[in-house]
Amino acid sequence: MPTNNPLQLTNLDAGLYLRKSRMEEGLDTDEVLARHQKALLDYAKEHGIHIIETYPEVVSGESLYARPQMLRLLQDVEDGRYDCVLCMDLDRLSRGRMKDQGIILDAFKDSDTLIVTPEKVYNLADEIDEEYAELKTFMSRREYKIINKRLRRGLQQSIEDGCYVANAPYGYKKITIDRKPTLEIYEPEAKFVRMMFQLYTQGYGCTSIARYINALGARPHRSAEFNRSSVSRILHSPVYVGKIVWNQKKHIKKGVKGNSKNIVIYQPKEKWTITDGRHPPIIDKELFDQVQAILDKRYIPSKNDGTIKSPLAGLVKCANCGMNMQRLVMKGEPYLLCNRPGCCASTRLSLVEERILEYLARTLEELTLSPTGTLDNRDTSVLETTLEAIQKELSATQRQKARLYELLELGEYDIPTFRERMDAVRNKQAALERKEADILRTIQDSKTANTATLAEKIRYVLDNYSTSDAAQRNALLHSVVQTVFYHKEKKTKPTAFYLDFVLSPS
Ligand SMILES: [Zn+2]
Repeated sequence: MPTNNPLQLTNLDAGLYLRKSRMEEGLDTDEVLARHQKALLDYAKEHGIHIIETYPEVVSGESLYARPQMLRLLQDVEDGRYDCVLCMDLDRLSRGRMKDQGIILDAFKDSDTLIVTPEKVYNLADEIDEEYAELKTFMSRREYKIINKRLRRGLQQSIEDGCYVANAPYGYKKITIDRKPTLEIYEPEAKFVRMMFQLYTQGYGCTSIARYINALGARPHRSAEFNRSSVSRILHSPVYVGKIVWNQKKHIKKGVKGNSKNIVIYQPKEKWTITDGRHPPIIDKELFDQVQAILDKRYIPSKNDGTIKSPLAGLVKCANCGMNMQRLVMKGEPYLLCNRPGCCASTRLSLVEERILEYLARTLEELTLSPTGTLDNRDTSVLETTLEAIQKELSATQRQKARLYELLELGEYDIPTFRERMDAVRNKQAALERKEADILRTIQDSKTANTATLAEKIRYVLDNYSTSDAAQRNALLHSVVQTVFYHKEKKTKPTAFYLDFVLSPS
């Protein structure tokens, strides 16, 4: 809803978009943009809005594809990088062909990003936004599809030309040669890429490699540290021998399938399209092939092929870091392990599964013994202590963020450093928030669970478990257990792991 009360905005992260208005068409671009920039920076300062990056549109094409800064801004908006985008007026963003307006406005709407102008604040995510509705009527769903297809065709062309259009992969920086985007080697990261490939041929696993390069100060682009999957993705990526891979990732937008944010799925190799790029390789072909040969031998079919292979999928979380525990086959035997290197020790999956079934059997017994059908000894005090600790940590990250802004404003940090630090803090915050939500739900559930039906459900699970396949077992367990928190110290006996159970609300 458009609101005339921008004074309530505070502590927002913003992108700043600069473009001449129609009226200023004849004037000197640099001069006009500098003036707008000053006005908007003053506005931002006054309202406690933090400008993370500026997008000055020097070329002024009507079509979206002739506005490189807008395309860059849209990408960042879609990635959910900003709370708002600051510009002189709505017209700067949306002027152009109607179809393009739809794409632009959708990006803001889907990512919950506000448009802030000195006059008004627009929240397109709000369905009763009249102006938005008005604009939307110009563009039918069909038109959107057509333009989307055209955008895709454009990307396809870039790929055939050997241009690199996505964000720069680790080890590279994005540059433009002959007006075409490509990559150049970024040595501070490339040295770690070489290290990863070399260590792998020496027999190190992805987790040990992650631990090793983390210790040497390597930092991936979008998270605080390398882990087994991010190392594995790099080792698999033909981009490091000068190729371009298309269809490697599938994006599922926020809101689709009930996701609270945009998620990325890595597709199996068979679905990739690989073409020659224009960028220099970091790894020579021989080393790359050597690594692929080892990887193929250890290859485990992707967990994203649609079939559930672990009866414990999505059920067990690391009590240490809150991440989902992953199934991984080691020495021919499935194990359950935390993706974060060095976080907690892994355990044979079958042992954990057994322990869960034992717990369910015990719970059923208690439920049937108690005449009222209630469990009165469900102690939530441990959970409450954990919750307190998490909330403390959350306020600490809040303070860290504020401090980062200060350092940026003092000029202690340049934008890339600031972003890197901020991303790390944000990742940490997100993980903590997930953990907090889980625990809150758990506490709530243990207070309200209807135990009579729970007993029936558990009996059903136990009766049918042995005759079910992995996917069915997974569904059965999910019907009674919401989360199992797993903990194991290093160098302890195989059975010396601890499980904390959170039963499903009935
Ligand atoms: Zn962990």
